[in-house]
Amino acid sequence: MADLPRAVRQAMPLAREVAVEVAKQYGVCIRPIALKRLDTHTGRWEVVDVPCGATLDAKCSSCAKRNRQLRKAQCREGWHLDHEPASTPDQANDDQRWLVEFRADLQARRDEVAALGEDTADWDAAIEGVDAEINEAGMRGSVLGRTVPKRTRSTRRRQDAANLPKRRMTPTTLGRTFQASDGKVYRPSLFVTLTLPSYGKVHDGVPLDPDTYDYARAARDALHFSKLVDRFVQNLRRVAGYDVQYFATVEPQKRFAPHLHMAIRGTLPRAEVKQIAAATYHQVWWPQVDEVRFADDHLPVWQDEAGYLDPATGEVLPTWDQALDQLDADEEARPLHVIRFGDQVDVKGVLAGTPDADQCIRYLSKYLTKSLGDTLDTDNPAQHEHAARMVEALRYEPCSPACPNWLRYGVQPKGAKPGMAPGRCRSKAHKPDHLGYAGRRVLVSRKWSNKTLAEHRQDRRTWVLEALGQRDETPDSHRYLWKPVPAGDANVAPLAMRLLRSVAERQRWRAHMDQLQAQADGQESEATGRAA
Ligand SMILES: [Zn+2]
Ligand SMILES: [Zn+2]
Repeated sequence: MADLPRAVRQAMPLAREVAVEVAKQYGVCIRPIALKRLDTHTGRWEVVDVPCGATLDAKCSSCAKRNRQLRKAQCREGWHLDHEPASTPDQANDDQRWLVEFRADLQARRDEVAALGEDTADWDAAIEGVDAEINEAGMRGSVLGRTVPKRTRSTRRRQDAANLPKRRMTPTTLGRTFQASDGKVYRPSLFVTLTLPSYGKVHDGVPLDPDTYDYARAARDALHFSKLVDRFVQNLRRVAGYDVQYFATVEPQKRFAPHLHMAIRGTLPRAEVKQIAAATYHQVWWPQVDEVRFADDHLPVWQDEAGYLDPATGEVLPTWDQALDQLDADEEARPLHVIRFGDQVDVKGVLAGTPDADQCIRYLSKYLTKSLGDTLDTDNPAQHEHAARMVEALRYEPCSPACPNWLRYGVQPKGAKPGMAPGRCRSKAHKPDHLGYAGRRVLVSRKWSNKTLAEHRQDRRTWVLEALGQRDETPDSHRYLWKPVPAGDANVAPLAMRLLRSVAERQRWRAHMDQLQAQADGQESEATGRAA
């Protein structure tokens, strides 16, 4: 290539760009992750491409699309179930095992990098993504088993919603059915949309008066939104009197506030759902943050074994646990924040198999590929300004017990370690892409369809393999050993080549599928011919 005249070189389409376009057309992952795989049966190492969607949180457009299709299938499968899903705990399947092994490898790499004193941000992000994926794959808790015993709260801080009706619990996940006069049985379900309150008047997603818009509240509400959703589900179950199952997605509104769409199996009176939403709240029992104790160049200093100290007095700052103990002991203490839904609650009855139900499912998966910040209209300066103010409001807001921002208010973050500084939290919650909500976008209850996303993925794989006349043997989980491939490894082909290889494979499959379909059609018409 280097020998070609410059003008000729410039006229050639960029191979990589072309390959990416082609890969997109075929639904092939455009950001594959190269991994080394040791086949312990043969003793051979090879470099294998894994779709980015299989591991990391950030998915390429192809993987995001595929993921959305799987989510639709999952949503459809559970919504109007007419039989109880089996309640045996899921066996850790191959996907999960693979992820756990991959997680262990990432951790090892991260620790190596950390030992060299280099930046671990990329590795941390990767690990976070894999953790999310492992949870998704149906395992409860994180791999490290960080199950800290729950703090016991005094009863006055119980968060029951008092004035709600309570029905006796029946051990079912199915909703009621109704029989029409013609004997037909209906199994109605619900589609509910929940929204956060107003923080000030908005027009087209932009505050009319940014100076009075309550950014602080908007930021806190976004940070704690998922807890509020948990409370809503708890209350819903209590009132409904059965083990209500749901498939929900968290989506950005134009004003950047998260809101929730929820497909619920079974039905309740509309007024009751609205009553539950109105009565649901969540209190955040964290230390107060009104007083800025350390800022600018007056910051707590780290001392090994002691933790963070006041730079002037040398006094050790309270640890996270100590701060919570103080809070518990203080009769006068108030929660840092109380979050509730807004008045806009939309409840819709939906019947199985109707176009209405299909539309709701499309609606539920519509924004799945976007993060909250993605609703940003890049040509709209007022929206930019709005997003910037939101990011500013989140800058020093503690996003979690481990957030370095606690140092600003004189508390050591949970798991404090050297190098922390307020305003320098790496959590996604503070980033313009997420604007406070860094939680999961899809929330599926355990007994929804009795299948995890990984199992749905496995279903499709099995289907394709069966269609290809191949047996889907459950592979020996200990057969392979995985290792990350260092950047610039000579064994990894250029991206364009890897993408085109995947496309070729996809083409082969498609051709084979078409052939099978044609054979099936042929047999069918033969059969019809005979019958006629
Ligand atoms: Zn991908
Ligand atoms: Zn943070």
